[in-house]
Amino acid sequence: MNEILILGAGYTGMAAAVSLASRLKGRDDTQITLVNPQTRFVERLRLHQTASGQSLDDLQIPDQLAGTGVAFVQGWVTNIDADAQTVRIDDARTLRYDTLIYALGGVADTSAVPGVDEFAYTLNSAQDAMQLAEHLDRLPGGTVGVAGGGLTGIESAAEIAERHPELDVVLLSRQVPGSMMGDKARARLHKGLDRLGVGVRTGVDIVKVTPDSVALADGEVIAMQAVLWTAGVRVSPIAAAAGLEVDDRGRIVTDESLRSVSHPNVYAVGDAAAIRQGYGVMHGTCQSGIPTALHVAASIVRTLKGKEPKKFRFGYVHQPVSLGRDDGVIQFTHADDSPGRFYLAGRWAAVYKETVSASPWSTFRLLKAFPALGAVLWRRGGRMTR
Ligand SMILES: Cc1cc2nc3c(=O)[nH]c(=O)nc-3n(C[C@H](O)[C@H](O)[C@H](O)COP(=O)(O)OP(=O)(O)OC[C@H]3O[C@@H](n4cnc5c(N)ncnc54)[C@H](O)[C@@H]3O)c2cc1C
Repeated sequence: MNEILILGAGYTGMAAAVSLASRLKGRDDTQITLVNPQTRFVERLRLHQTASGQSLDDLQIPDQLAGTGVAFVQGWVTNIDADAQTVRIDDARTLRYDTLIYALGGVADTSAVPGVDEFAYTLNSAQDAMQLAEHLDRLPGGTVGVAGGGLTGIESAAEIAERHPELDVVLLSRQVPGSMMGDKARARLHKGLDRLGVGVRTGVDIVKVTPDSVALADGEVIAMQAVLWTAGVRVSPIAAAAGLEVDDRGRIVTDESLRSVSHPNVYAVGDAAAIRQGYGVMHGTCQSGIPTALHVAASIVRTLKGKEPKKFRFGYVHQPVSLGRDDGVIQFTHADDSPGRFYLAGRWAAVYKETVSASPWSTFRLLKAFPALGAVLWRRGGRMTR
């Protein structure tokens, strides 16, 4: 029996599982197993909605896997023995693999600045986002700081400001939020933040977080009733501890077909992988992550047929940002993620972004029903979501 083990049932782990299962349907010589801590699918793309107090659909991973033949194991991976080709789960179970798909994603880096780990909220999990929502609900007023001016920080600040007009929301960023966008889209983004009453402070270097303030490098201390930390990315140490070759951020370094350069029976996808393209190493997005998963599914099918996997090629399409529920800005991009000429803003941008956020779960359903869809989607490389 050929054991294919997938670690992590986020966007990429799920895409890999359903795509592989539909492509391998009817073969009785392979077993696919998917490991994840919870049965509920975490819609990471919507965690800023959770943090602002909105409740999301209860999407259950076992329901999505029903009829695919994929075995679901609920558990937390604690380590990989790459020589023995086994994975250890926190309840002491050991799972064997012939082929491993590593899809453990990444979280905000709370280790770099003192106090962040103890006192700042994060969107690292649905529970973390819910804790912030509960705290915000209890606040009679005051200031909420959102640290990090990337797309996650922008979306979170806007969403909280829209749902909590009684709070002052301040976006704290080293760089100008939206700096990756073109001038017009960025100007529109700031207009949208301004309309929602989000204060923006740029050139800010946070050096400490306490239960009721943030301290800046220039000595200023800003009183805050809550801080949401979205700056920086950290990945699980499991890959490095297993002896897999990783980059300086701990992401698995892959070859052109997304296999670990040190352990070719391990494929890495999504935020946990360091994947080089002509324009540089890809940054973690769902837009790029799902194509990596579909490519890996196709590659495994090819290798099972005795063929070599193909090279992975990916070009970005857009940088979509929601500004609350009724506004947004979509910057369309060149393949290297640099801004193109066109952008979309306002109500239609909000509809566009909602479609992006909803599309992965329905794509999984379609992949189950139409095995060939995976091949169509991955060939188009990232032309389906952000
Ligand atoms: C608020 C927000 C909005 C975003 N908006 C967009 C957007 O509009 N477009 C876009 O392209 N990207 C967006 N992103 C980024 C996108 O969510 C990530 O790039 C994407 O989730 C990466 O998918 P993944 O499968 O690699 O990781 P994840 O989706 O994070 O999945 C990782 C899975 O692994 C599991 N896991 C982790 N550690 C272990 C362990 N030790 N054992 C077992 N399981 C484990 C996790 O529980 C999780 O289920 C957004 C992110 C955030 C936070």
